[in-house]
Amino acid sequence: MKYKNNIEFAQSLDNNDPFKEYRNKFHIPAGKEGNELIYFAGNSLGLQPKTVRQYVEQELLDWEKMGVEGHMFARNPWLPYHEFLTDQTAALVGALPEEVVNMNSLTVNLHLMMVSFYRPTPSRNKILIEANAFPSDHYAVQSQIKYHGYDPEESLVEMKPRPGEDIIRTEDILEKIENDGESIALIMFAGVNYYTGQAFEMEKITDAGHKKGCFVGFDLAHAAGNLKLDLHNWDCDFAVWCSYKYLNGGPGAIAGAFVNKRHLLDMTIPKFWGWWGQDKATRFLMDHDFRPIPTVESWQLSNPPILQLAALRASLDIFHEAGMDALREKSELLTGYMEYLVYENNNGNIEIITPENKTERGCQLSIRAKQNGKFLHKKLNSAGVICDWREPDVIRCAPVPLYNTFMDIWKFIEILYSE
Ligand SMILES: *Cc1c(COP(=O)(O)O)cnc(C)c1O
Repeated sequence: MKYKNNIEFAQSLDNNDPFKEYRNKFHIPAGKEGNELIYFAGNSLGLQPKTVRQYVEQELLDWEKMGVEGHMFARNPWLPYHEFLTDQTAALVGALPEEVVNMNSLTVNLHLMMVSFYRPTPSRNKILIEANAFPSDHYAVQSQIKYHGYDPEESLVEMKPRPGEDIIRTEDILEKIENDGESIALIMFAGVNYYTGQAFEMEKITDAGHKKGCFVGFDLAHAAGNLKLDLHNWDCDFAVWCSYKYLNGGPGAIAGAFVNKRHLLDMTIPKFWGWWGQDKATRFLMDHDFRPIPTVESWQLSNPPILQLAALRASLDIFHEAGMDALREKSELLTGYMEYLVYENNNGNIEIITPENKTERGCQLSIRAKQNGKFLHKKLNSAGVICDWREPDVIRCAPVPLYNTFMDIWKFIEILYSE
C-alpha cells in the first residue's frame, strides 16, 4: 500500500479496517482527563477483553454454589477445563491439538522443556541463544547448564550481531550452526527478540539445527498472538510462551507450551512428573504407577488455576473469531504505517532498529533516538502514550491489530515530533 502523510488518510484506513469493531471488545485505559490513552504496550501487558469478567464470574459462581463438586458439575467442569482452550491454542501457533497445553508460567515451562530437551554430553553440551536475550531466558539456560555440571562460560554460546549492527543476520546464525552444530545440544531462540523486535526465521533455524542433530526450541513470548506461527510444520522440537503480552490473558496469565508430536510417546525423554500428567481415566485411582497422558498434557504437573484459564479462554475466543491470518494482515499495515510516518516526518534524531522486512518483524518497532531518548519517552508518556523505555536507548512501541487504530499512530507521531 502507498501510505500518505495526512490525517484524512489515517482516518480512511480506520474506516476500512475489518477489525474496527474489535477495539470495542477491550477496555482501553484512560488518562487523568478521561481521555483514551494511546496504548502501545500490548507487548508487555495486553488489554483486558470485556468478556473476561463474565468468563471469570462463571467460575466464581460455580465455586460459590458447588464447592468441590464444580470439578465435575460446573457449567464448564474444572477437571477438563484446560481442554476447552486446546483447539484455539493449536490454531494460534500452528500445532496439532495434542501438541499444545496451557500450564504454569513461561520461565517454568522453559525449564520443564529443558529438562526434556537439554541433555548435554561431554562432546555436545552447548546451548546457542541469541545475544541480548530476555534476562529470564538467559538465567534459565545458565542455570540448566550449571545444573548439569557444565560451565556457562564454555557452554552458553550467544549469537551476536555483527559489530555496528543491531539485527542478527540469519545467514550468520545458519553458518554458526553449520560450523559448531556438533557441539550444540540445544538451540533456544526467541521467536521475536523483545528488544529489537527482530523475528527470527524459525523454520530455517530448526532445519539447520536438526541437520546437525541439535534440539531446537523457541520462546514465543513476543511471537504468540503477534506472528503467524506454524510450529508443527516447521518441525520445532518445543516452544513456550506467556499469555499476558499479545495474548491478553491478564497479569501473570497462564502460559503455553508446545511439544512436537514425534516426542509425545517417546518414553526415553526425561520429564518431571506430577499427577496432572497422569492418565486421565485412572488418575483418581491414586496409585503410584505413572502412566503419562499420550499428549503434551503429560508435561503438566499440577491442577491449573481455573480463574486464570477462564480469563485466557475469553481472549483466545476473540483470537479464534478474528483469525491470525487476517490479524497479521492488519498488523503489517499498521506497523508499516508507523514506520512510514516516523521516517516521513523525521527530524534526523530518530532511527528504527527493528528490521524493515515484514517477514523479519512482528508489530513492534524499536525506536532509537540519537539524542535525548529518555526525555522523549517522558514526553510521550505525559502526553498519553503508553510505550516503554528499555535501557540503554530504545523506546518500544507495539501497535496491536486487535485494538490499536491508525489514528493512534497519527497522534503518536504528532507527539513524537512536537516541539
Ligand atoms: C516476557 C518474557 C519473559 C517473562 O517470563 P515470565 O516467566 O512470564 O515472568 C521471559 N522471556 C521472554 C523472552 C519474555 O519476553
